[in-house]
Amino acid sequence: MTVRGEVVLDVDGLSVGYVRRDGSINTVVDSVSFQLERGTILGLAGESGCGKSTTALAAISYRAPGSRILSGRSQLQGVDLLGLSTQRLRRIWGSKVAYVAQSAALALNPALTVGRQLSQPLAVHLGLHGSASRARQVELLESMGLPDPARALRRYPFQFSGGQQQRVALALALSCKPDVLILDEPTTGLDVTTQARITKLLRGLVTDFGLGCLYVSHDLALLATLADRLAVMYAGEIVEAGAAGAVVSKQRHPYTQALLAAVPSVRRPREVVGIPGRPPTSVVLDACAYAPRCRYVLPACRTGRVAMRDPGDGHAARCIRLEEIEKLPALGSELAAARPGRDVLLEVDGIVCAYTGAEGPAVNGVGFVVHGAERVGIVGESGSGKSTLLRAIAGLHRPQAGSIRLGGIELAPTAVKRPRSVRREIQLVFQNPDSSLNPRHTILDIVARPIRLFRDDVPRARERETVQELLDAVKLPSGLLYRYPAELSGGQRQRVALARAFSAKPSLLLCDEVTSALDVSVQATILELIAELSEQTQTAVVWVSHDLAVVRTIANRALVMRDGEVCEEGETDELFAAARHPYTRELLAAIPELLPA
Ligand code: SF4
Repeated sequence: MTVRGEVVLDVDGLSVGYVRRDGSINTVVDSVSFQLERGTILGLAGESGCGKSTTALAAISYRAPGSRILSGRSQLQGVDLLGLSTQRLRRIWGSKVAYVAQSAALALNPALTVGRQLSQPLAVHLGLHGSASRARQVELLESMGLPDPARALRRYPFQFSGGQQQRVALALALSCKPDVLILDEPTTGLDVTTQARITKLLRGLVTDFGLGCLYVSHDLALLATLADRLAVMYAGEIVEAGAAGAVVSKQRHPYTQALLAAVPSVRRPREVVGIPGRPPTSVVLDACAYAPRCRYVLPACRTGRVAMRDPGDGHAARCIRLEEIEKLPALGSELAAARPGRDVLLEVDGIVCAYTGAEGPAVNGVGFVVHGAERVGIVGESGSGKSTLLRAIAGLHRPQAGSIRLGGIELAPTAVKRPRSVRREIQLVFQNPDSSLNPRHTILDIVARPIRLFRDDVPRARERETVQELLDAVKLPSGLLYRYPAELSGGQRQRVALARAFSAKPSLLLCDEVTSALDVSVQATILELIAELSEQTQTAVVWVSHDLAVVRTIANRALVMRDGEVCEEGETDELFAAARHPYTRELLAAIPELLPA
């Protein structure tokens, strides 16, 4: 019999480091403690590089290549996993402890049917074979909500959608009835409606199976709605921990407060605040690690390590001013609002785009207009046709039918056939600056290129100065002109991509999932920046995203796309407050939300 609340994994003082080339240790996780209780979910939140995934793996005694567990213990029902041999650990991994990573596609063997993959742990750990094994396999797929389980067992992973693959990965993880389930961003990359179905399923499984679950995610809104308890990590330490509702409603650490203020909301229009600066790359042992970025820093914060403190209600924070912080009003400020002109800048009419071999068109008769200086969002799930539509406007995908006009002049279907003036007017920023910035060029060369191509008003002698002005405008630190993209952080690279786009002085900026690979605090700074620059330069923006909250934050008008067609269009505030189309309502309902309705 399982008892809800019984501690199944007790992690105490866990520290992890990576061995540097010179043999010294770079500590990346320090003195982390938490407990997993049956039937409950502990959410471990934080941004990239904070140590949350390293912590999750180390807690089950898995050492990432090059890493070393420096101290601590992790007791699974009284047995310290950190002291066990690999052989004993292998018997525990997959039976008592299960781990599900972000990419189900990587976790599943593409060459084996789902049935074969499920049969292996059942045979190794539970000794089930033949009809007994098959019955358990069907039962598992059924409990994951997969249609026609008997048939699903004969299929290969590639024959399932992304969400179904993640269900299969969960079935595999739960096949041997583990006590502990570790989930590392299991729904990141999935569409919002699929994510909602998987998290609902997970919640039920944790309760029904009596699992002690650790859910690692960068998505605070998701954890706030799913987890029972929440721990927030920063620079390798837990900086705040408590009941999820308490942490979200009464933050006691300035980092948690800032992180929540950076999360865009579908209910809260145009309010988002970034966190200036960058986190340290290793644990800080002689001061508060957040001090360089903290708006409430005092000299005392820099005199020594700050300990975790619980005022007595089970809600602890690593801050000397926690009692004051929780009384402060939530952060939040309005982004510069777009003030659209009356003149139509872009007219898209009856666009049809198709890919060779595809069943139907990717974009099917879409039409809309964008006024000067307007910010229009296009939202939809994967495969809705939103990115193809954007590429057609940019002249990177030749439409089969329809017309695109800019300033009243019909554009050629491909960019190479468009005159130089049109290529200057329309600039595109992609999701991934790693692939859109030439790694062999300096930042100066990258940003100067559109100036050389399109800006007759900038003589060669003023080029460097103009590039520096643009880097200042996108708020990059000085001294980056001769650096290469690889030397910059992801957020800085996206700022360079923006500086390059604005260097051409466009009238229309096309943004394709520009912030979706960024941490939420960096995303907030980029949203602030785009709003400010588009307002200052009166540049219209078409913003494509799967994230409705981001679109609500940045756009003053939005289109919702599904299966290549626009199913709803309207002013952002109205559309989000009173969606008319059932699909828009379904999308909105699937989004985890930090704010009360
Ligand atoms: S201890 Fe000081 S610097 Fe650190 S979070 Fe608290 S107020 Fe900010």
